[in-house]
Amino acid sequence: MTATLRAKLAPLLVSVFLMVVSLAATAQIDLTEPESQWLEEHRASMKVGVVVMPPYLSARDGDGGLEGLSMDYLHLIERALGTGFQHQVFESYGALIVAAKARAVDIAVAVSETEERQNYLDFTDVYSHLSNKIYTQKGHSSQAEMSDFAGKRFAVPEGTAVANYIRNNYPEIDLVETPTLRAAFNLLGAGQVEAVGGSAAAGYFYSVKDGIDNISIVGNVGFDYHLTFGTRNDEPMMGVLINKAMASITPKQRQEIEDRWLTPEDTQRVDIETLTQWLVIVGFGVTSVLLLIVILWNRSLKREVSYRKEIQKEVSFLAYHDELTGAYNRQFMTETLAEYVRLPRSKEQTTCIILIGLDNFSLINDFHGQKMGDYVLSHMSERLQARLSGSSVLARNGGDEFTVLLRHSANRTSLSQFADRLIAEISLPIVSGDQSFSLTATAGISIHEGELYEPLRLLEQADLALHEAKKKNVGSYLFYTSEMSDQLHENQQLVASLAEALYSDLFYLEYQPQITLHSGELVGFEALARWRHPEFGNVPPDKFITLAEQEGLIVTLGDRVLELACKQGSEWLKQGLTFERLAVNVSVKQFVESDFASKVLNALEQSGFPAEKLELEITESVFLGDRVQAKETMGKLTRQGVCFSIDDFGTGFSSLLYLKELPVTKLKLDQGFIRGITHDYSSLQIVKASLQMGSALNMDVIVEGVETCEEYQILLGLKCQHAQGYLFSRPLKPNLITPALLRQISTSVTAICTAEKEPVTEG
Ligand code: C2E
Ligand code: MG
Ligand code: MG
Repeated sequence: MTATLRAKLAPLLVSVFLMVVSLAATAQIDLTEPESQWLEEHRASMKVGVVVMPPYLSARDGDGGLEGLSMDYLHLIERALGTGFQHQVFESYGALIVAAKARAVDIAVAVSETEERQNYLDFTDVYSHLSNKIYTQKGHSSQAEMSDFAGKRFAVPEGTAVANYIRNNYPEIDLVETPTLRAAFNLLGAGQVEAVGGSAAAGYFYSVKDGIDNISIVGNVGFDYHLTFGTRNDEPMMGVLINKAMASITPKQRQEIEDRWLTPEDTQRVDIETLTQWLVIVGFGVTSVLLLIVILWNRSLKREVSYRKEIQKEVSFLAYHDELTGAYNRQFMTETLAEYVRLPRSKEQTTCIILIGLDNFSLINDFHGQKMGDYVLSHMSERLQARLSGSSVLARNGGDEFTVLLRHSANRTSLSQFADRLIAEISLPIVSGDQSFSLTATAGISIHEGELYEPLRLLEQADLALHEAKKKNVGSYLFYTSEMSDQLHENQQLVASLAEALYSDLFYLEYQPQITLHSGELVGFEALARWRHPEFGNVPPDKFITLAEQEGLIVTLGDRVLELACKQGSEWLKQGLTFERLAVNVSVKQFVESDFASKVLNALEQSGFPAEKLELEITESVFLGDRVQAKETMGKLTRQGVCFSIDDFGTGFSSLLYLKELPVTKLKLDQGFIRGITHDYSSLQIVKASLQMGSALNMDVIVEGVETCEEYQILLGLKCQHAQGYLFSRPLKPNLITPALLRQISTSVTAICTAEKEPVTEG
């Protein structure tokens, strides 16, 4: 190149160089004007303090450069901000913290947030978690707790949060602080300390990569690290920028970093290689003594491999991840949450949990098989993950529930919108091969607002909200409210006393008369359970029956009702009271028990109550289950004379096929239809159609919930035969039921209602 050409090209090369430099110095993330300006002013001087602490940071042999998990994060942050940091390497962790305190460095790498450090540092989002283990020399007992080291020498790296933790919580331990964890392991190797406290990942690094052997993990220290970058808090902008850069690191990049530094390599290879060498020697040496040595050697190698594998397991991905979906697991979620909630925060920094439950997920397993179920869970996990930003955490709780943890959640409106988006994401169709189906999801949301110090409570609150939402708002979400806790507390108290109450006077039956409409004469009674709680008073049956069903008490309750009703029926007959039927409600869970029929027959036998006077009220949901078994149970009982009616007819299952297949003799029309009969055309038509169907199938139809003369007259006009309702009588305690009272009921109702208005006739 000639001198003239060089002279001409020089300015061009300089401008290209400047362009490259300025391009490199451009942030890849969106920054506000003040943020860009601050970065511009401080770009050249930002100093990062680091300590060699494998695998988070290690010094490379040869060039003396740095590498490790934290360095990977730092590089991504540098790239996002379009800047480079100066690195200052410290000899010990303690020295780094001293420098951070003195503002000699701007950013400290791999620090856990503590209250003391909040005085001089701001903390970014957590970028890695590591559990601290107790290491002893091999041959020490296989398990130990911190308290076992009272009065013994226990080494930890100086200035670390774990050293503080041990000093504060186990003052009786003789704490030995070493400049590095490596030095602590050296003391352990030399037998100068009894144990070492350090991260599992570091232990793995030293033992496998650095050749320190003769150590084993015997327990947990009880304090785990949640690593962040600590930035000087007199320059708040620095923390804001680093956090912004961290939020741009994708879950995939995070995963790659973890895989690179925390997932151990396969050490099996070493075993095979060494073994082969020994086999060759044996092949040539051909003496049985050598063979024996090889076998022993191999054994020791195997032990070595399994020991290393044990450590690998400790540090492996699985400790904090769900095996099926690869999302974080509950352990990780709880630890991260504890970290977020532990320190007092400003109002804007509320932490929030959105707990998402897939609706009817078990049907996928039932109808499409477990493999499809697993696929759906993994797929849903990916969909949810794709909706989250960098600092949010997704975990699978196990089963069909996912937790989303938001560190800096916004206001309720945007949380609602976000929950809606997550739910909508789940309900998109799932296509697998030639199958396509969709699911819905329901969510519970809890927010950490200032006062909550117990992190698990936030999870419990989200759980409660989800539970409520599943009852009241399926396919949508509910925010946790304190009333939900009150309700839960009350229900727990109720459940605790229900089992006991069943055999006391506080649990009893009332009986509601059923009459023939045109004459007002008694045909029978329905037995209805009652519970008077010493503290809460009369608990509505709908409530305690539901609780008993949820808590597995319904079968015991049902048995008790049958026993009491049969006894009462038998007594009335002895007293000369005439009635055709005594109806007892039976819940599905009770009916499907294999010994249900024999229990009923037993109750009849014990009380002497005739089977042909017993009517069992079942609901349509009974036929959703095993129909063959239902038919068998009903057959056994009808052969003895017991009859079956369908309670709340018209409100459940829509197929009427069961009426043809199963021995049902009576339909009890739900009171909802009777309520509408006076003003709602369709209710009237349903009642009419049911009466016609009953007559065509030769079934008795009884209506429940008749309250007014108007309803009475319409039903009379429709030629309805039997009824039950407050108009005739409320449910009564048995001692009030006398022939005189029944006579009075029959005359008064017919007299009042027929006098008031002539019955309406059909057409
Ligand atoms: P159900 O079997 O449909 O019982 C009829 C309910 O309607 C009873 O409520 C009864 O008091 C009420 N009722 C009767 N006539 C009228 C009326 O004219 N107007 C109004 N508004 N209501 C009327 P209760 O006693 O509160 O029982 C509610 C539900 O609790 C029952 O509905 C039944 O599902 C369940 N239950 C009650 N006792 C038992 C039991 O021993 N075993 C089981 N498994 N469930 C029971
Ligand atoms: Mg009933
Ligand atoms: Mg009913």
